[in-house]
Amino acid sequence: MNIEIYMILCKSCGSEKIAKDGIVKNKQRYLCKECRRTFRIGDGREKYPLEKKIKVVKLYTEGMGIRAISRGVFINR
Ligand SMILES: [Zn+2]
Repeated sequence: MNIEIYMILCKSCGSEKIAKDGIVKNKQRYLCKECRRTFRIGDGREKYPLEKKIKVVKLYTEGMGIRAISRGVFINR
């Protein structure tokens, strides 16, 4: 098992603590729990890389469950 997942990062502060904040104009909006800013993917104002590629296998070994990981995370097989 070697699934790569892409974690969404905050555009403003780079935090991984992102919550979904509804759909705006057919795009998913995200809310940063650190700086409370909202942002959408692909609106051209990224200050930090939006996606962090990590391996699920690594997270499993660190004791995180897939349900916890999948909040705010896209799985790309
Ligand atoms: Zn932030």
